[in-house]
Amino acid sequence: METKIVIAVDGYASCGKSTLAKALAAALNYIYIDTGAMYRAVTLYCIENELDIDDKEAIDAALQQIKIHFEKIHQKNTTFLNDRNVEEEIRKMYINERVSEVAAISAVRRAMVEQQRKMGKQKGVVLDGRDIGTVVFPGAELKLFMTAAINVRTQRRVDELGAKGLVVSDEEVRENLIHRDHIDSTRADSPLKLADDAIVIDNSNINPNEQLAMCLALTTQRISTFMNKPE
Ligand code: C5P
Repeated sequence: METKIVIAVDGYASCGKSTLAKALAAALNYIYIDTGAMYRAVTLYCIENELDIDDKEAIDAALQQIKIHFEKIHQKNTTFLNDRNVEEEIRKMYINERVSEVAAISAVRRAMVEQQRKMGKQKGVVLDGRDIGTVVFPGAELKLFMTAAINVRTQRRVDELGAKGLVVSDEEVRENLIHRDHIDSTRADSPLKLADDAIVIDNSNINPNEQLAMCLALTTQRISTFMNKPE
C-alpha cells in the first residue's frame, strides 16, 4: 500500500505557505486543508453577527452555529460558511484586520483544531497554518516552516489583492502583516512558533517551482525514512 503522511506547512503571514501547500497536495494527490480559511470564516461570522469577541458565552454559542467545509470549484479550493461560499469575502482586508484577534480565542482554537484533526486523520494531507506542527499534528511526518523577508511578503500580498481588484497601499499591507505575526506569535494559546523538528524554508529568493521541487524531495526522503522505520 502506498505510504501517506501528514505534512504540516506553518509560518508567517503571506510567506508563500498556501502556494506551496496547494502545489504539494496537487503533486502528491493529497488533500489540502487551509486552516487559516477556517479562522477567517469564524471572523466573518463574528463580524456579520456583531459579536463581542470578549463575550465567552456568545462565542461558545456562535461556535455551535458555525459549520465550515471546503469544496473544489473549478479546481480551486473554496471555503463555505454554513453552506455559503465565502471564499472571496474572507480574503478581504477587513478580515485580515480582525482575524488574529479571533484566532487567539481559546474556544475558537479548540473547535477548529478538533475539526482539523478529523480532516487529517486519514493522512495523505497537507495542512497550511500556524500551529499544525506544534499543536494540531505534533506527530506530522514532515514539518515545513516558511519564512520570507517582509518586503517580499508585502509585495506578494499587494499583488494578490491587486489581482482581485482590491487596491491597498504597501504600507497598510506591511503593517497588517507585522501586526498579525506579532499577535500570532505572542498569543497565550498555541502561538506561532518553530517546531523543534521543522525544516525552515526561506523563500525570499527562490521561486515557487524551486520551492516545490525542494519540498517534494524532502517528502520522498521522509516517506522512505518512515517506511524503513522498524515497527
Ligand atoms: O494563513 P492565513 O493568513 O489565511 O491565516 C489567517 C490568520 O488565521 C492568521 O493570521 C492567524 O491569526 C490565524 N491562524 C491561526 N492558526 C492557524 C491558521 C491561521 O491562528 N493554524
